[in-house]
Amino acid sequence: MKGRTAISEGPKIPFAIEELPVPEVQPGSVLIKNSGAAICGSDLHGWRGDSDGPVVRRKRIPGHEFTGRVHSLGKDVATDSLRRSLKEGDRVVFPFFFPCMRCYHCLRDQLHVCQHRFRNNIVYKFEDYPYCDGGFADYFMLKPGHFVFKVPDGIPDRVLATVNCSMAQVMFGLHLAQPRQGDAVVVQGAGGLGIYAIACAAEAGASQVIAIDGQKARLDLAKKCGATATVDLTEFTTPQARVDRVRELTGGIGADIGIEVVGVAAAALEGLDMVRMGGTYVDIGNISGGSYTLTGNKVISRQTKWIGLQHYNPWILESCLQMLVRTKDKYPLWDLVSHTFPLEKMTEAFETAEWVGKQKGSPATRIVVTI
Ligand SMILES: [Zn+2]
Ligand SMILES: [Zn+2]
Repeated sequence: MKGRTAISEGPKIPFAIEELPVPEVQPGSVLIKNSGAAICGSDLHGWRGDSDGPVVRRKRIPGHEFTGRVHSLGKDVATDSLRRSLKEGDRVVFPFFFPCMRCYHCLRDQLHVCQHRFRNNIVYKFEDYPYCDGGFADYFMLKPGHFVFKVPDGIPDRVLATVNCSMAQVMFGLHLAQPRQGDAVVVQGAGGLGIYAIACAAEAGASQVIAIDGQKARLDLAKKCGATATVDLTEFTTPQARVDRVRELTGGIGADIGIEVVGVAAAALEGLDMVRMGGTYVDIGNISGGSYTLTGNKVISRQTKWIGLQHYNPWILESCLQMLVRTKDKYPLWDLVSHTFPLEKMTEAFETAEWVGKQKGSPATRIVVTI
């Protein structure tokens, strides 16, 4: 069996769509027929070439934020990770990384830190593993025993595509920050991750959710998704002005929790100043490097709990699905996906998603490639 596969050869090089063989289903594994894959901010860093990792510069199958249906079940697989019956055709979500469950970190319930969790097309060179097995492709193979969650009816496929990266990532980040009822939460960035972070904070009982972004369309959506106040970068044009505004909104105290989902290094410096003494700062977006200068006593003197986070513990996926169902009439989270493109128009999809396009006033929030 073969499947269509989008192949990247490096930044700004148009994607090639090729038919590649699909790996054989092993006992205990599940073959997914993908239905949609979103373009995440980290995909855009790869497209722009502003993240220095060697992975984005070599031939590979991109895509990590996606969903699909069960195409075929390996021997002995009859249920999902909550022992609900699973059959061919069922819609599912799953982590795009594979905790090994047999290492120091997995044993300590830190599956998001497992050093063995990366998928085939990141670990191996394309030449060593030329299979239709990835996010922007027809098929994705879940390794034996991998986490998989059946999706309740009613959530559209295009929205599901965003669950296993953006939504799960920020919900897990907020979980690690241990929010208390009545907390003030500031979210830097109101793109895909930001909008979900805002809604998750509101659902966690925050008394204030402050959204910061430079695009009015995003801030408008943020307000509908739980933000109690917004700080527009075009109005508050300096870091100090933004920090002052957040302090003003929080009675001079600062936010209990700050969440960074901007992906610009300097945002962390600014965000640390928005968080109150003894508050918690969760850094999620800063994956592409960049640098800033930090005074040695900044974090200690303010007693900030500073959490860096990449990936999540898979149980959060079920919590995401429940929240999407529970809040479907409360927040227009489904509007987060502004555009869809077919797989054959991957390059156009990435060009549309590019920041430059957005800064000219395009209302692009999350773009999903339908498969
Ligand atoms: Zn992502
Ligand atoms: Zn492990």
